[in-house]
Amino acid sequence: MKNVKQVKGVRKPLVAGNWKMNGSIEISIDLIQGISSGQWDSVETLVCPPFTLLSSVRHSIGDSGVKLGAQDVDSHPSGAFTGQISASMLVEQGCEYVIVGHSERRALFGESEREVGLKAQAALSAGLTPIVCLGESQDEREAGTTFDVVRRQLAAVIDETQGNRLSSIVVAYEPVWAIGTGLTATPEQAQEVHALIRQQLRDLDETEGDATRIVYGGSMKPDNAPNLMAQPDIDGGLVGGASLDADSFRAICLAADQMN
Ligand code: PEP
Repeated sequence: MKNVKQVKGVRKPLVAGNWKMNGSIEISIDLIQGISSGQWDSVETLVCPPFTLLSSVRHSIGDSGVKLGAQDVDSHPSGAFTGQISASMLVEQGCEYVIVGHSERRALFGESEREVGLKAQAALSAGLTPIVCLGESQDEREAGTTFDVVRRQLAAVIDETQGNRLSSIVVAYEPVWAIGTGLTATPEQAQEVHALIRQQLRDLDETEGDATRIVYGGSMKPDNAPNLMAQPDIDGGLVGGASLDADSFRAICLAADQMN
């Protein structure tokens, strides 16, 4: 059996800030200054501002090493889709990542599992890394269907992204009941689902499954981040609320750095 620490060491931790529909040019300049003053060696740090802030955030990031991502993408390469943004447009803005299938998009904007898979494929085709969000609702957890839900959501993405290396996506396990609620999955609850996701990937390709980053999202804060990051299959975080505070976000990045 492979040594868990050794296997985890092949995956560079990722800490991504999902700003959602928050911020302004002025706020984002302060935030990026605060984030980029942090020092860590082995964590990839990413911010995902609203579309309209991408250009100014890119400018603020400069050569600090902080990476840029978007919060959503259309599944089509171009065309008559008023209001939508394509993957190549995001690349042109300097994005390297894009979040797809966030639970708010699934619940509030009716995104289907197939649509999420198509978005992941559109991102990959343009050279972006999709961060694919999966997670069960409170009702689904109480009904004991967490594993079925997560397995099905991941399978839909794998179906639509065949032909790409599995490790070219990042998976974010985000239990819906923990997003923006202050409730966090315990490290054991999160690890249990991360291990299931890892096994689903390893069943397709052992090496790729071991190389794929699976990050946790759901009220991650400086005080709970170290114990979550210490779990063998948690490779970083997708952070909402705490990513809007530079001190908190830096502390989470440091926790990820220390766990690697
Ligand atoms: C998110 O929006 O992806 C998220 C995890 O939010 P929060 O950290 O606020 O729960």
